Amino acid sequence: MNTTFFKHFFTILLIFVFNVSIFAQKVTISRVEPPSWWTGMKNPNLQLLVYGDGISSAKPVIDYQGVDISGTSIPENPNYIFIDLVIDPEARPGTFPILFKVGRKTVAEVTYELKARRPGSANRKGFDQSDVIYLLFPDRFANGNEGNDSGNETLEKADRSNPNGRHGGDIKGVADHLDYISDMGFTAVWFNPLLENNMPAYSYHGYAITDFYKVDPRMGTNEDYRLLVGSMHQKGLKVIMDMIFNHCGSNHYWINDLPSQDWIHQFPEFTRSNFRGGSVFDPYASDTDRERFQKGWFDTSMPDLNQNNEFLLNYLIQNSIWWIEYAGLDGIRMDTYPYPYPEAMAEWAKRVLKEYPDFSMVGEVWLSNPSQVAAWQAGDKMQTGLESNLPYVFDFPMYDAFRYAFSEQQGWSTGIIRMYDILTQDYLYAKPLDIVTFADNHDGDRLYSKLGEDPDRFKLAMAFLMTTRGVPQVYYGTEVLMTGLEHNGHGDIRKDFPGGWTGDSINAFTREGLNSDQVKAVKFMERLLNWRKNKAVIHTGKLKHFIPVDGLYVYFRYDDNDKVMVVLNTSDKTIKFDPEYYGEMVDGYTYGKNILAGKTFFLTKLNIPAHTPMVLELR
Ligand code: CA
Repeated sequence: MNTTFFKHFFTILLIFVFNVSIFAQKVTISRVEPPSWWTGMKNPNLQLLVYGDGISSAKPVIDYQGVDISGTSIPENPNYIFIDLVIDPEARPGTFPILFKVGRKTVAEVTYELKARRPGSANRKGFDQSDVIYLLFPDRFANGNEGNDSGNETLEKADRSNPNGRHGGDIKGVADHLDYISDMGFTAVWFNPLLENNMPAYSYHGYAITDFYKVDPRMGTNEDYRLLVGSMHQKGLKVIMDMIFNHCGSNHYWINDLPSQDWIHQFPEFTRSNFRGGSVFDPYASDTDRERFQKGWFDTSMPDLNQNNEFLLNYLIQNSIWWIEYAGLDGIRMDTYPYPYPEAMAEWAKRVLKEYPDFSMVGEVWLSNPSQVAAWQAGDKMQTGLESNLPYVFDFPMYDAFRYAFSEQQGWSTGIIRMYDILTQDYLYAKPLDIVTFADNHDGDRLYSKLGEDPDRFKLAMAFLMTTRGVPQVYYGTEVLMTGLEHNGHGDIRKDFPGGWTGDSINAFTREGLNSDQVKAVKFMERLLNWRKNKAVIHTGKLKHFIPVDGLYVYFRYDDNDKVMVVLNTSDKTIKFDPEYYGEMVDGYTYGKNILAGKTFFLTKLNIPAHTPMVLELR
């Protein structure tokens, strides 16, 4: 044989062996997200994010009937690969390997699961005007498991003495008190975020997510959450999950190894948002201001995500759908809704509603004027050019008015007239009933403090909230007159619910230790909410109101079958109620039953005492 042939043969062989030894090294895959999916979704497409050292040099291979790889994309960072799958409607639930190959060698392998959907999953019904939402801070409601308060892997350890620390509240704590929530008459719960926030400090609020697919271990496990939602459904409670597309926590794995430089908004030096959401639709806005609003960071610990990156947007949308399907959600509350790009958020709502047409989402559009809020609701009645597809918005203008309407002196433009004025602008909304109304939440002064800790004004405010239009939301503890002022720090408005911790001297769940005002308030709420729960005319009826005079505000909820008259004397003096003035609504009725006091009132000239609400079922 020819020696030259042998020389070449060995050289080729050596090159081959050498190459394989370099490229065939095992690759560790640390993430595949979403971690699972379902068969039979309306959208057959699924994009997997796979993260592992140099993973992009390998080729993914799937051999499973009904699942095909339609393409792969590699971003700037070779440690990521995006795999586009098409899942045939006939694909069966099951697990299968995804092989990552270099040449013929498999350098990595992961097992992927396609689950069967829950029966009726696509037809789930979201929240609506028949609901009253209880907003609950998971770290601050009840500590059901003291064993999970701190963990080896959690950077911040529990410290109940620190108002801004972790206090140990968890999923078990909520599960233990579902009867309290449903007996009060609430029908839905919005949880402040409970996904992993593995940040070194101030992590209890949950808005700096470090893993979009994992419940924080201090709250419990994903399975605990899924089971909690199931238990809540059995008690007639809907579940609304808090989601955040605008930012993540700086300890998220992306941040130390960005998929691409445009994954987040970056500046030469730290740049905060100007928090001026009005700039988005401002016809005179400078590019600088609008960009600063959308691209600036919320905080140094919260990098601002760029939803204009199509892979990131797809990741976030799939994450929403994953939690709806996995946990069995009824609604989503979207944090900082105007801060991401409007087109991206419109795409999110469109895709979620395509999968779940009757699902409900509410956006936190924290702006002061009805025109600014209305612009973000589906229907585009404001003709901004944006169709957001977003079914619900929060009524922040009404929230602002709760600070004054029931506590300041009644005047031409002060007091209850503020509420009237807000409602007169409902022509701005495409769907004025699809608004979540609230008197307080986790970001501002507690209602009872705003009302000067006056129990009568509290009753007026709550009677109004529960009978005017919209979906009312109550902040946990408001029902037992919890106090707190934002200027004392957020810890003051997010205090522990009394009775949620072993050894608490006051237990609001059993009412042990509550003072008489608190007991009266909680009984008032219980009666009002349970009445509202079955009162269809409050859910779907029309609203007609009369201009408040001297602080007396009278309005009606009515339909073809039923009529409720609400009389609120918000003033400091007794006012005479004259039924003749309200004749267009009360003619033909002789009396009303006041559901707040259980008494019957004949519709004659009545004296309404100061600071008194009446909710009358007309007969
Ligand atoms: Ca705990």
